Amino acid sequence: MSEFAQSVKQQADIVKIVEGYIRLRKAGAQNYSGLCPFHKEKSPSFSVHAVRQFFHCFGCGVSGDVFSFVGKVENVGFPEAVRIVAQKCGIPLPKREYSSPEEAAGARLRGKLLDLHEAAASWFEEQLRGPEGALAREYLAGRGLTPEGIKTFRIGYAPDSFNALRDRLSGVADNETLRASGLFAWKEQGDGSQGPIYDRFRKRITFPISNESGRVIAFTARALETGEKAGAKYINSPETPLYTKGLVLFNLDKAKTAIRQAEFALLVEGQMDCISVYLRGIQNVIATSGTAFTEQQVAILKRHTSNVAVNFDPDTAGANAAEKSIALLTEEGFTIKIVTLEDGLDPDRYIRERGVEAYTAAVRAARRQSDYLIERARQMFPGASAEQKVKAMNFLLPHIRRMPEKLSRDQFAADAAQKLGIDSAVLREEIRHAALKRRDHIEVRTASLTEVERVLLRALAITDPEHEEARRIAVEAVSSHPATFEGLGSFPALQSLAMRGAQDPMEMVEEQAQMALLAEALMGETGPPSTDTVQGAISSLQKRKIESEIRNLRARIAEAERRGDHIELAVLTQQKLDLDRVLRKLHG
Ligand SMILES: [Zn+2]
Repeated sequence: MSEFAQSVKQQADIVKIVEGYIRLRKAGAQNYSGLCPFHKEKSPSFSVHAVRQFFHCFGCGVSGDVFSFVGKVENVGFPEAVRIVAQKCGIPLPKREYSSPEEAAGARLRGKLLDLHEAAASWFEEQLRGPEGALAREYLAGRGLTPEGIKTFRIGYAPDSFNALRDRLSGVADNETLRASGLFAWKEQGDGSQGPIYDRFRKRITFPISNESGRVIAFTARALETGEKAGAKYINSPETPLYTKGLVLFNLDKAKTAIRQAEFALLVEGQMDCISVYLRGIQNVIATSGTAFTEQQVAILKRHTSNVAVNFDPDTAGANAAEKSIALLTEEGFTIKIVTLEDGLDPDRYIRERGVEAYTAAVRAARRQSDYLIERARQMFPGASAEQKVKAMNFLLPHIRRMPEKLSRDQFAADAAQKLGIDSAVLREEIRHAALKRRDHIEVRTASLTEVERVLLRALAITDPEHEEARRIAVEAVSSHPATFEGLGSFPALQSLAMRGAQDPMEMVEEQAQMALLAEALMGETGPPSTDTVQGAISSLQKRKIESEIRNLRARIAEAERRGDHIELAVLTQQKLDLDRVLRKLHG
């Protein structure tokens, strides 16, 4: 590990970093637990040790330090993981940490683009407050937005000008960077070259789109006027080095804490819906921005919760994207509830017209996805004819098949069969076929340690110089009498740790099963074992070892007696007397 990585590791707190991705609860004096982001599970077997700065999952067996966690969860290599952790801790990167000049240039460009977006966001905000923003302010007020709400979401106004923002930013960055920002557009010239740049967003209300850290990376802009001249109602930033549409969930930066507290995310389609609901105090709300979810977005959401309440527009245009999103969420094992609002209102109008209590009640009354789908099937294919029932079943089957858990599939199938009046044996047969293709989750046998092993592993992993004596005793015992420990399941880990010298104990054990044993010993620890405890553990092992040798000798003595071999008998008896003495000493 480079010096830089080493220093980042010292400054980073693995608990804080992991909490940026998944919810953790305190589980012991020094450890936390949560749902593993690397395998599907319902009860937490993923643990993080705050003092030793490592994680271990008792379900799937992965473990490692802060860099391996970030590398795995972000799906990046070691150098990138170091960079991500450094950035999260606000540690500036030395230039040489980039693996190539192109990468360094890319990072520099992204840095500049972030600055440009920040500058643009502030400038748009300013314009909204200025005289040109009067009409926009009026519109926003009409939609129930207060000045505080506008400030919270940094809503702004792009004035009716082709060059106002360009003039504003041209002193901040060169032309090439401005072109890369997505804030400007240009026309291709007759000779194929790029024409001069002009402001992309004009006479529009601007809504910044932020990344998970809350930095502005793109804009959505709503036309202030309708009609042909005004162009599309909404236009968005194009994809840039900062902004990939399928990687961003609108408002996640503000909502993630509330999502974890509420233990579910409220999913709406439109940004205005999202803003409106959030500003009225329901803060665990995020928006899909009208398009179907991507796998990456689902993965991002999964880091924060696996429960969603979906409140999509009931209109048919939205239904397709909504259905795709729900399908993807189902496949990823989310528990989904469907919110339906009376009179087909969208969340924004509903909450403004009926109030936040009524909306909260509607969210609370959300139906299970299966109930919702069965109801839809009944509406789409009414009547009791066999033909209609087959159609309804065919509508439901793909939804049922998508559920990763067998239990949920069975439950859904049984409900559907009952409510549609279908012989459930038929449905079940279909499901069974579908179920065969699914891979069920893999069970890793959980590690298991004796109390003595626990003590020894903890002693050998001591890093605090104050307790060095306990460690020294254990190291001495394991290195000079390995035979005493050979029979233990954790013997390989004990041996590696005894050889570690000043190295981090977590870096010594490489084999996964051994790491699992070490993690099991360390996760619940309250403090290092005392010298007496360590000595006691070693003695008890020595006793056990000697007792088994004595048992062995007894058998051989009996055998020698039977054979009448007096010489052998004398030798063995002497050996047994010696061992008896050692054993007495150990007991004494
Ligand atoms: Zn796991």
